[in-house]
Amino acid sequence: MFNLSDLYQQVIIDHTKSPRNFGRLEPCNHDAEGYNPLCGDQLHVYLQINDSNVIEDVKFEGQGCSISTASASLMTEALKGKSVDEFEHLFEAFHTMATADISETPDEAVLGKLAVLAGVKEFPARIKCATLCWHTLKSAIEDGGTARTE
Ligand code: ZN
Repeated sequence: MFNLSDLYQQVIIDHTKSPRNFGRLEPCNHDAEGYNPLCGDQLHVYLQINDSNVIEDVKFEGQGCSISTASASLMTEALKGKSVDEFEHLFEAFHTMATADISETPDEAVLGKLAVLAGVKEFPARIKCATLCWHTLKSAIEDGGTARTE
């Protein structure tokens, strides 16, 4: 199992057991599917973006490992009410955190609760589980079809 601090682990377990914003979103004006063949994680992300480019609502469905589910749950929670620009900023910060050197502490001021996923970088095979939902959401915003981590 993951050697994360207790607090981080608790948050991840909580989001895995009861994922937030889980289900189909209707109406929605953007959606995309994501697939991580390495682990078998599958996600479908739904978004409702208004005329001011604000993410009014976001939900996800799918089946995957605990990390992919917790990551999608935390992501949807973090993005509701944020603008598309803010999403891009967070995407970059999250990606940097997940791929940074282990010695680097995540920027909690920017990432907030998403920082609990920093521990995945100790397990390189799980990084794609954590970033899958972000790639899927980006592809939904760009209407780019199915996102794959490979
Ligand atoms: Zn996975």
